[in-house]
Amino acid sequence: MANLFADIIVPLPLSQTYTYSIPENMKEQIAVGKRVIVNFGKSRFYTGIVTRLHNDIPSYDRIKPITEIIDEKPILIPQQLQLWYFMSAYYQTSLGDIYRVALPSGFKIENESIVDLIPEKLEEYTPSRAENNVIELLNDGQSHKINEFNTSQIKHIKHLIDVGIIAKTDKLNDNYKPKYTDFIAINPIYANSEKLTELMLGIKRAKKQVELLQCYIDISKNQAIEKQTLLEKANASTAILKQLTDKDILRIEKRRCYRIDITSEVETEIHELTEAQKVAYQQIKEGFTTHESVLLHGVTASGKTEIYIQLIKDTIARGEQVLMLVPEAGLTQQLANRMKQFFGGEMGIFHSFCSSYERVETYQHQLSDTPYNLIIGVKTSVFLPFKKLGLIIIDEEHDLGYKQIEPAPRYHARDVATYLARLHKAKTLLGTATPAVETYANCYSGKYKLVELNERYGKVALPKIELINIKECYRKKQMKGHFSLEMIENIKSTIEKGQQVLLFQNRRGFSPYIKCPQCGYIPKCPNCDVSLTYHKHNNTLSCHYCGHTISFDTKLETRDTKLNFQLLQCPQCKDTQLTTQGFGTEQVEDEVRVLFPELRVARLDLDTSRSVKAFDSIIGAFQNGEIDILIGTQMVTKGIDFENIGLVGILNADNLLYHPDFRATERAYQMLVQVSGRTSRRTEQGKVLIQTYQPEHPIFQQIVKNDYKAFFSQDMLDRHAFHYPPYVKLMRIIVKHEDNTICNRTAELLANKLKIQLRSRILGPDTPSIAKIQNKYIRQILVKIEINASIQQVKEIIRNEIQGVQLQKPYNTANIQFDVDPI
Ligand code: ADP
Ligand code: ZN
Repeated sequence: MANLFADIIVPLPLSQTYTYSIPENMKEQIAVGKRVIVNFGKSRFYTGIVTRLHNDIPSYDRIKPITEIIDEKPILIPQQLQLWYFMSAYYQTSLGDIYRVALPSGFKIENESIVDLIPEKLEEYTPSRAENNVIELLNDGQSHKINEFNTSQIKHIKHLIDVGIIAKTDKLNDNYKPKYTDFIAINPIYANSEKLTELMLGIKRAKKQVELLQCYIDISKNQAIEKQTLLEKANASTAILKQLTDKDILRIEKRRCYRIDITSEVETEIHELTEAQKVAYQQIKEGFTTHESVLLHGVTASGKTEIYIQLIKDTIARGEQVLMLVPEAGLTQQLANRMKQFFGGEMGIFHSFCSSYERVETYQHQLSDTPYNLIIGVKTSVFLPFKKLGLIIIDEEHDLGYKQIEPAPRYHARDVATYLARLHKAKTLLGTATPAVETYANCYSGKYKLVELNERYGKVALPKIELINIKECYRKKQMKGHFSLEMIENIKSTIEKGQQVLLFQNRRGFSPYIKCPQCGYIPKCPNCDVSLTYHKHNNTLSCHYCGHTISFDTKLETRDTKLNFQLLQCPQCKDTQLTTQGFGTEQVEDEVRVLFPELRVARLDLDTSRSVKAFDSIIGAFQNGEIDILIGTQMVTKGIDFENIGLVGILNADNLLYHPDFRATERAYQMLVQVSGRTSRRTEQGKVLIQTYQPEHPIFQQIVKNDYKAFFSQDMLDRHAFHYPPYVKLMRIIVKHEDNTICNRTAELLANKLKIQLRSRILGPDTPSIAKIQNKYIRQILVKIEINASIQQVKEIIRNEIQGVQLQKPYNTANIQFDVDPI
């Protein structure tokens, strides 16, 4: 008997699935994994996904029928749905939330509200000033989509709909538009050469038409060819072509084409591995015979990528697919360019810089009979369909870019990927020079197999790392601005040798805050509990959390000789001038330009490279030797393969250590080692200089000696002492509200309820170091669970308590987020 009901996921963070009835005429086509359109609420339509077909009569009446089936074939394969269910349970988020991140937005057919002004109704109504502004925008005789407007405008629009000045219509809108291109073909009656000769003679006076036709015959080989190609080859205009199509000699055909590249050829043979790389490669393969996952701990520039390439080749040769994860879209592009030469059209890329259409096409290509064998992508690539996945590579596995923070599901792609591998019986290779502490601990416990590669390619030595005690330097007056004399000397000598310099400071802007030396006033963001960062290039103070910006009217004075910058009069005491405190990359750049006026200087941070293009052009210029000194934030620490850096200077290593967070040392270690790894990747040994106030801190000794194991042991001791992962399972509950009191009371209530069941495992609520962001106050509750406890049961208790609190007034207005394995 055919099924009567279908369970369907809709893209809403509500219940898991909803049951709809299957109309008679759809019973044949309906299938799990297909998209359907369903009616929800009064008049909303959503694209849903069928998860189950059955005959269990639901307990509620008024079951709605499915409106329409979209797909001919399912767009989700069973492993994908299994992954969604796993994530929903593990991260305690709804399937609707997972659906929203897992499918490219181009797949969603959604309601779109169109608003139109009814001008004749205006005579009977006197709009307010604010309403008038909206009316003016609408009064251009065109339809507008409601999402063109901001929230306050929408408020007025709603009112104007109520009074009948504006009409609203809903229409279903397909977000994905296939691309079509014009192809040109000759009318088949001219296939016979006699007819063709006759034709040519007939039009011989129209010289240009003959030329175009001749060109078509020469290159077409009886196949239709792309219009643009033909016009270019024939050097003809569209007008000439039109004359031929009007006479029905040539014909235009619209053909479906792809935005993604599915054809290009492989150009290059892969490199032969060095002896050390071969050993690591063998050990990885052996590791896979006994373990599901292997960690490749290889020093920077040891050629980890070359080993990946070899393993990818092997996997594809076995007829299996590979997913290679990269932490950031910018890096994907870099890596994709490098990999393209080895894998050509076998490789697809998937990241946020791809357009929504391209993402739909890549997704659909993976469902086709000839999918890409290799996908390189960011964390959302774990949601792509794979027919026969054999290997997942997680490059730079320690990177925090793998963790989704906002919105839910707050998943860690590394952990999801290992689960995905298990679903496919595939293997996982994690690679990094600075493993995450949790990952390394997994090697100790035997869960992962550890493979080490301690030699750089070409046996280039690891950089020589030296510490500079700037407390001493200040005392001995051996500082110019934020540069020690030793740093300045080393920059000079590096440049004289024809090499480049990389300067690292992990803060953008000119200075992280400004302050009145008299009354202590510090300008803060009105929306967030943070000081405003001063940006000199546009003379503004801005909030790095919400973007709130205040600009100064007066230009600043720069007193170059002292490398000191003075600001405005203090708005509070009106007595003295505000001075900048601390320093960011912008200030470093200013100082460098004063210290080395003859050198070419550039800066790489969020302010200078908001687009991929800007990023690529700075990196490109540096690679081509057009820049002597590059200054950057953590953007420069990652994966970029520079050839000629003789010196890396770290101007203030201490601020990396002062975060109130159990991962602060780990992050500092990773960042410093990664940025050091940018030196001397090909030839002679490079140098790293670290300026610090506390050279005796153990982390610096571990870095100087390149002793990851010492760092790991120390960090594990600390985590053990203070009960942090991997010794406990950590979860975080965040409560946000615009009203500080409600925020507080909600958090208190929730924590008290949880403590009844979970006792001392519940810590807080407390106020995080940034207590307000974007006008919302924040409280957090930490949950620490013993490793051997039933984590799933605890998660359900928490979920239930959160839901309970959210049913009561006024707590239901609070936003409560639940983060499993927070970072
Ligand atoms: P990692 O990923 O470990 O940082 P890479 O794979 O980027 O290191 O290698 C660093 C550089 O050395 C790259 O430019 C790479 O092409 C080169 N290289 C590494 N191994 C080989 C090899 N076996 N043959 C040729 N070049 C290699
Ligand atoms: Zn702000």
